[in-house]
Amino acid sequence: MSLRFHAIKSLQNTAPEVVVNQSTKVTAIFGENVFTIKTAREYLSDEAYKSLVTSIRGGRKIDRAVASQIANGIRAWAESKGVTHFTHWFQPLTGTTAEKHDSFFTLKSDGTAIEEFDGGALIQQEPDASSFPSGGIRATFEARGYTAWDPSSPAFVMEIGNGKTLCIPTIFVAYTGESLDYKAPLLKALAAIDKAAVDVCNYFDKNITKVTPTLGWEQEYFVIDEAIANARPDLILSDRTVFGASPAKGQQLEDHYFGSIPERVYAFMRDFETESYKLGIPLRTRHNEVAPSQFECAPIFEEVNLAVDHNTLLMDVMLRVAKRHRLKVLLHEKPFAGINGSGKHNNWSLATDTGVNLLSPGKTPKTNLMFLTFFVNTIKAVHDYADLLRASIASAGNDFRLGANEAPPAIISVFAGEYLSRVLGEIEGRVGEKFDEQDEAILKLDLHRSIPELLLDNTDRNRTSPFAFTGNKFEFRAVGSSANCANAMTTLNTIIAETLRNFRKEVDGLIEKGDKKEVALMHVIQKYIVESKKVLFEGDGYSDEWEKEAANRGLPNVKTTPLALDAMLTDRAKSLFQKNGVYNHTELEARHEIELEKYIKIVQIEARLIGDLAGNHILPAAIKYQNTLITNIKGLKDIGVDEKNYATQIDMLQKICDHISTIRENVDAMVEARKVCNNMTNTREKAIAYNADVKDKYFDVIRYHVDKLELLVADEEWTLPKYRELLFLR
Ligand code: ADP
Ligand code: MG
Repeated sequence: MSLRFHAIKSLQNTAPEVVVNQSTKVTAIFGENVFTIKTAREYLSDEAYKSLVTSIRGGRKIDRAVASQIANGIRAWAESKGVTHFTHWFQPLTGTTAEKHDSFFTLKSDGTAIEEFDGGALIQQEPDASSFPSGGIRATFEARGYTAWDPSSPAFVMEIGNGKTLCIPTIFVAYTGESLDYKAPLLKALAAIDKAAVDVCNYFDKNITKVTPTLGWEQEYFVIDEAIANARPDLILSDRTVFGASPAKGQQLEDHYFGSIPERVYAFMRDFETESYKLGIPLRTRHNEVAPSQFECAPIFEEVNLAVDHNTLLMDVMLRVAKRHRLKVLLHEKPFAGINGSGKHNNWSLATDTGVNLLSPGKTPKTNLMFLTFFVNTIKAVHDYADLLRASIASAGNDFRLGANEAPPAIISVFAGEYLSRVLGEIEGRVGEKFDEQDEAILKLDLHRSIPELLLDNTDRNRTSPFAFTGNKFEFRAVGSSANCANAMTTLNTIIAETLRNFRKEVDGLIEKGDKKEVALMHVIQKYIVESKKVLFEGDGYSDEWEKEAANRGLPNVKTTPLALDAMLTDRAKSLFQKNGVYNHTELEARHEIELEKYIKIVQIEARLIGDLAGNHILPAAIKYQNTLITNIKGLKDIGVDEKNYATQIDMLQKICDHISTIRENVDAMVEARKVCNNMTNTREKAIAYNADVKDKYFDVIRYHVDKLELLVADEEWTLPKYRELLFLR
């Protein structure tokens, strides 16, 4: 019996045992495994505590003199929880998280065994992580990178089974100073936007001294039975199905969306939520998504750096907890063809240290002007750097979503909502007129009363826009479900920092020439609206008309990763990232190279899988069934049955023969195409070729014929679990 039937049978015979942690109040466990400021107060001396708090608030390095005191405090706390090992926890450019555990245990020179965690080990480590992607920054012979503590994200204890490890969130940098991870540039982008936004805020309120970007992600994912998944080598190795005919029922009835959560999945959710709460991840919502077996969870928003750490941690927790439930979580953007893929909407805003959300319309003319300023600057930034935003979400997985049959499109546009579009239109319509004190009229635009109702109300939501204003925040919807949000967040915050800085310069210029402050602000706001209005789109982002319209407007529409990544290497991009202190040229070039290499490897793996599965599963099953047909036809012929009575069998046989030979020919040709690609030395050209000459040319053709065979060959011969089993059995 093939693995497929074993899996189905096991699911039928034994209801998988489900571990459900008893439910407690979230507040009783929330943050229990986190070294919070409150815990720090308990475990640290006054001096160490003050130094830690200063570092956290000011984003500054830990004072070496007190590092050992802090380390001792953290160790004492961790040991009270039964922790024996510690690790620097970081986010290399592989897209997952990395750890290398060291024991607290050590030997003194006289051989005495002790437990120790010194300040040096807390602050900096050399993981000798020479095998992480570096885009050539570190040649492997001098493979030295180090990790350094990021005190703005707290240490935490990770529990795996009954093993507990103290994790210290760190950045990962080369000895030459270049960043090798997602976190280091993100922290730099956050510093850049803080400065630029405070400078603009001070037009309105001198008391604002810090602006913190906020992020609330919405994680979509699929959950399927592990045994069934294990019978699909493509799911094991690439997290997506490379073959599979559409089941009779997909998502057309829309009976899964927001439906009652299936019991096994519900137990899994509660379990991973519990783990997440202990780690301080503030999960808030859970629900079924549109596609069968698709779900979503979302937290309460947090400061961006912490939110990013929490999302990467959550993905890790989900994958591990799923195993306990004998389930498999798929974070891939498009695990199944023909039904919805998964994204990770990034809800983003800016918060001041005076407690104001800068993207929330205000109550007074002054605060409304401040809102309008940040609102319009965001639109302008997206307009000016749409290509970079597109690059920041480019990946092999996301290519199946963006600009494919499904939204959001690869065209970056902004949805403002009906009311604000009208406001922008009114301001824009006054080109040529001079703003003066009269313009109190505009300043008094009654934003605060109309906007919240209009925009917080779902009726004015546009679900097809990749970048939508949703009442008090923007929602960047094009981010892929498996992505590290840091990539998108680094770019978004950098382009807005840049735009705000230029805004400040322009407004200051007008004020110097004698304009009143409000008048100067309105002038530049109006100028930005005019300059960026072509990025605004309120209609159906999935429609063909929009694709045409966007082309007329000159908006970029880059559908594949290798080409989308080109945006990273323009002179504009280089100077933008350099000026904002986020990436120097070398770092940007290295990242470009790493992303291309990742793309190539993924397409390569999928191509191999297609070849393997075709050769070892599909063709053998088809040939076996051919033999059944042949025996049948021969038998009928032998006993003298009229040929017209087995014409159907002959026709089926013929069809199967055709599919088999087409599959074989295409797989062979694909192997040859891969060889040609593999000999290419230029990474960009190789990635483009892998996309055009391997993926585009062969994946769909082979799949088409395999999926046809799936419908022709007897079910019992088919070894790969079918879509209906993957999506509906649990
Ligand atoms: P949707 O209706 O789009 O599914 P929700 O209203 O459930 O989304 O919320 C989406 C996310 O937006 C949540 O994670 C929430 O915390 C986040 N969010 C709300 N306000 C802000 C903000 N000011 N900054 C960043 N994220 C926010
Ligand atoms: Mg949303």
